[in-house]
Formats: sequence, C-alpha cells, structure tokens
Amino acid sequence: SKGKGLGRYEIFDSSMLDHVMTRLELETDLRKALNFQEFIVHYQPILEMKTQRIIGFEALVRWQHPTKGLIMPAEFISVAEETGLIVPIGYWVLDEACRQIHTWQAQFPASPPLSINVNLSPRQCAQPDLVWNISKILKKNELDGRHLKLELTESLIIDESGSAKTMLAGLRDLGIQVQIDDFGTGYSSLSYLHTLPIDTLKIDRSFISRLGTSANNTEIVQTMFSLAHNLGMKVIAEGVETNEQLSSLQTMQCDFVQGFLFAKPVNSLEAGALLNKPHAQ
Ligand code: C2E
Ligand code: CA
Ligand code: CA
Ligand code: CA
Repeated sequence: SKGKGLGRYEIFDSSMLDHVMTRLELETDLRKALNFQEFIVHYQPILEMKTQRIIGFEALVRWQHPTKGLIMPAEFISVAEETGLIVPIGYWVLDEACRQIHTWQAQFPASPPLSINVNLSPRQCAQPDLVWNISKILKKNELDGRHLKLELTESLIIDESGSAKTMLAGLRDLGIQVQIDDFGTGYSSLSYLHTLPIDTLKIDRSFISRLGTSANNTEIVQTMFSLAHNLGMKVIAEGVETNEQLSSLQTMQCDFVQGFLFAKPVNSLEAGALLNKPHAQ
C-alpha cells in the first residue's frame, strides 16, 4: 500500500507482517501470562524398567490462556527463548516443580525418594547466575539436589563447552544430575559426553517410534544402549507408546521408560493419583 518511492517498505509482504504481528502479540501475551501466573506444570511419570514403578516425573510447562485455552509449549517456547522470557518462565517452572516433588516425597515415601526432571533451554544455561539461582530454589523448597534432574540438549553442551563445563561442575556440586535430552538428534559422540559429568541419556522419541519398523533403526538403538552402558551411563527411552516397543527396550536392558503407554503428562492432581497405584498402567 506504500508508494513506489518508499521501496524499503516493500520488503514486507502482508504475510510477513501478519507473522510479525502475531509474534509481537505473543510476546506481549507471554509477559502478561507471567504477571498473571497463567502457566501451569504438567507431570509425566518416568518408570524404572525393572520394577515398572514410578521413580519420578518430567515437568512440562503449559499455558492456561484466559480465552484460548490450554496452549502447548511448541506454540510458545521458541518465542519465549528468542525474547529471553524463557528465563523467568524457566525459574517459575523449576520452583513449582521442586515445590511439588517435595510435597510428593513427604506423601509417598520411597527409596530412593521421588525425583523431578526439569528442562533447561540454551538461554537459561547462558545465565551466569543459573547455578546460584537453582541453589536458592532448592533451599527454598527444602529439596535435596540429588532429587532434581536437569534435561539439556546436546547442542548446548557442544556449542559452549567452555562455560557449559563450569555450569555442569556447579550443578554437580549441588548433587544435581544432568541428562541429555533428545539424544541421537544432535552430533555429539558418546565418548565426548562421557568426559562431562553426565550420566543419563534420554533417547529421542523418533528412535523409539521406529523400533520394530526398521531393522536398521533397531540396530542403531541397540548400539546406543551398548555404548551408553559400556561407558557406565543410564538410558531413558522417551515416547514409549506400544507394548512391542516396551519389549524390545526390555531386551536392550533399557533402564527407565516414559511415554503414553504408561501415562500422558497430567496435572498435579492426576499425577498424585498415579502415585497411589502400585503400577502406572
Ligand atoms: P521434550 O523435553 O522432549 O518433552 C517430551 C515431549 O514429548 C512432551 O511434549 C511430551 O508430552 C511428549 N511425549 C511424551 N511421551 C510421548 C509419547 O509416548 N508419544 C508422543 N507422541 N509424545 C510424547 P510437550 O509437553 O508438548 O513438550 C514439548 C517440548 O517443549 C519439550 O520436549 C521441551 O523441549 C519443551 N518444554 C516443555 N516444557 C518446558 C519447560 O518447562 N522448559 C523448557 N525450556 N522447555 C520445555
Ligand atoms: Ca525433556
Ligand atoms: Ca525429549
Ligand atoms: Ca525436545
């Protein structure tokens, strides 16, 4: 709609403008959501393969929007990441998840006590005061660091190995375990990860969903398990949906499992109810 003389405006076509508007709106809405406490945490159980018992949960954020309903992370995490809003959102999730697991630990005593997995994004890990803030959150919620597990992606650890190493050491000093999320989708070698204080891999859902459908894929997953176990690492399979997948994972001596076969991520009330049952299925 601008005249020819204003050529620089023509680089925006209307669909790009729409995109920018939605993003701006989303950013504004996200800031409001933080102020009005519209975020909630859902919990998905993680089971020990051997006993099929729930040993802990992964905390997964959702946005309870006043008019749009429940919004999944895929729709807002990347904008939160780009705008830096993931930092306060991430601390909120951490605080809430630590508070909740501390409550469940008292309600459902177990040995070892129930643990909580929380996702950390690259932007959060770049904060120089991350370890300090996490230590304050643990203290506030009276949670032992050994019962908090942080999920990081491979790229994060490879890209900034200098500062990442310091961060990992700080987390380990608090007793916190670091786990590699979506393992297999990045480019890190297991032998490299082994040089870092990381003792658990979460094999990405894409590998689990193809189990049994391709001999090649099954062999790759088998190799991941053998290598991880030879290096003394534990393995969690995420996205387990069928009994067939479960039995091949059993053959591969998978340590922990998580997926819709056992339970979807649910609110704290429903998650607490799962702990009342001897088995999650
Ligand atoms: P993720 O960390 O890989 O989390 C696992 C995702 O897989 C979750 O999606 C979960 O609902 C889904 N899932 C679990 N089991 C199954 C299954 O059997 N089948 C299928 N089809 N899906 C399964 P969700 O909750 O939508 O989260 C998506 C992503 O958003 C997460 O992937 C994570 O990268 C990010 N995210 C979620 N919560 C947080 C958070 O608090 N902080 C940060 N930084 N990222 C988060
Ligand atoms: Ca995760
Ligand atoms: Ca994952
Ligand atoms: Ca992911």
